[in-house]
Amino acid sequence: MDALRDMARPTVLDEGAVSTFKAALRGKLFRPNDEGYDEARRVWNGMIDRHPALIARCVNVADVIAAVNFAREQGLPVAIRGGSHNVTGNAVCDGGAVIDLSNMKGIRVNPGRRTVRAEGGCTWGDLDHATHAFGLAAPGGTVSTTGIAGLTLGGGIGHLTRKYGLSCDNLLSADVVLADGSFVTASENKNPDLFWALRGGGGNFGVVTSFEFKLHPVSEVMAGPILWPLEKSREALRLYRDVMDKAPEDLNAFFAFLMVPPGPPFPKELHNKTVCGVMAMYTGPQAKADAVLAPLRKFGPPVLDFFGPLPYPVVQSMFDALVPEGLQNYWKADFVNALSDDVIEAHVKYGPGVPTINTAAHIYPVSGAASRVAKGDTAFFYRDAKYVHVIAAMYPNPADTAKNVAWVRDYWPALHPHSAGGAYVNFLMEEGEERVRATYGANYDKLVTIKRKYDPTNLFRLNQNVRPTA
Ligand SMILES: Cc1cc2nc3c(=O)[nH]c(=O)nc-3n(C[C@H](O)[C@H](O)[C@H](O)COP(=O)(O)OP(=O)(O)OC[C@H]3O[C@@H](n4cnc5c(N)ncnc54)[C@H](O)[C@@H]3O)c2cc1C
Repeated sequence: MDALRDMARPTVLDEGAVSTFKAALRGKLFRPNDEGYDEARRVWNGMIDRHPALIARCVNVADVIAAVNFAREQGLPVAIRGGSHNVTGNAVCDGGAVIDLSNMKGIRVNPGRRTVRAEGGCTWGDLDHATHAFGLAAPGGTVSTTGIAGLTLGGGIGHLTRKYGLSCDNLLSADVVLADGSFVTASENKNPDLFWALRGGGGNFGVVTSFEFKLHPVSEVMAGPILWPLEKSREALRLYRDVMDKAPEDLNAFFAFLMVPPGPPFPKELHNKTVCGVMAMYTGPQAKADAVLAPLRKFGPPVLDFFGPLPYPVVQSMFDALVPEGLQNYWKADFVNALSDDVIEAHVKYGPGVPTINTAAHIYPVSGAASRVAKGDTAFFYRDAKYVHVIAAMYPNPADTAKNVAWVRDYWPALHPHSAGGAYVNFLMEEGEERVRATYGANYDKLVTIKRKYDPTNLFRLNQNVRPTA
């Protein structure tokens, strides 16, 4: 509960030190009375309303070093902001310093080597835009506005997980500003312990100023949602399980319960109707797509089938409009080892109760290439869990909080007895130390050792915190 204690402490800044810091910055410093401060402290989750003592919107590594040194010397809690999507709102804090990388968007693609280096403020949309020009892609998430930083540091689950692994599995190196202000590169050969920890261990170890990813030839894909009426949800979930069990790794599909948005491209008769369905993406040869997708497309029949050829960045941004900035977000998640009949029954009981538009329940596969990495090879532990589900209340009107939170709180406990043990760190809210430990399983002790080496005073603690003392 260090974070809560920090928030209760009044922040008295040394004005001389602030002036020196400001003069050292190429980027912008926001303090509470500055124009732009309120915009700069806003994060994706509209429930979060925190007032940092200052926000350093950095433009380069030198700025990040200055910000880390300033915060440490002034004894300020540090929040790191990438894409600001994290539902805990840890990208911002009360009374502390925010190191905001959102203006650091440099990207350099090396098409010959099939790699890309991208700064910590890039979103997946920024990265996809740059790499698609070369017919290449790095595995990201399923929404283009999410930051590459937080998503990769927590693991990174998306449409390419089964084919090419988690985002963190495709990380080749990372540039990091450590708690003492020093700058290091982490890779398999340089600081390999830090590199191990960065692949799943979140923002615990330093400020990552840039990420180097391996790229893959992904350009045009076959993709789209296939939706069914709720009466079919049990059979649809069973079919989904059977299809995914046998599917080639070229096929990735996540299952969802959702309310159809009232607008194009959805047909009028589906507007505001709760349905279930899959969002599938197939990266294999187009000639084989029909055969692979046939069981899903024939079942039902679907009330909507938008599956077809699309450029990869279009797939990546297909759901952006459903999850705009500022929605109230309240999520709960878990990994499961199987979509057993009992797990399916729990989904069938609660999934159809989606209370409002935008709110949804998702089940993502964590199989294929992601499961071929050993549990101890990176900090991301649940390599043998086949799925991760997230019950995600996301709604615009705070007056709808009670029914949305109640839905999540009824749904999640019905599934939790079937949990593999922990939850995906990027889907966790503030759920306490035990949940963080459970997330890292047998990797937790190693993370503590690495934390002690790179951040012994726990400067970077506004996250799913791994304490330097076990
Ligand atoms: C609409 C939406 C869709 C999502 N879809 C997916 C998905 O498909 N797949 C998936 O895996 N996850 C998904 N997520 C979850 C997402 O991975 C996490 O919210 C992630 O933390 C977001 O990263 P960010 O950089 O945008 O967020 P931020 O809130 O900016 O950062 C999250 C945390 O990461 C750390 N961090 C951020 N930047 C840095 C840095 N440069 N150096 C060190 N630490 C840093 C900090 O601890 C920070 O608190 C989604 C979230 C939302 C809101």
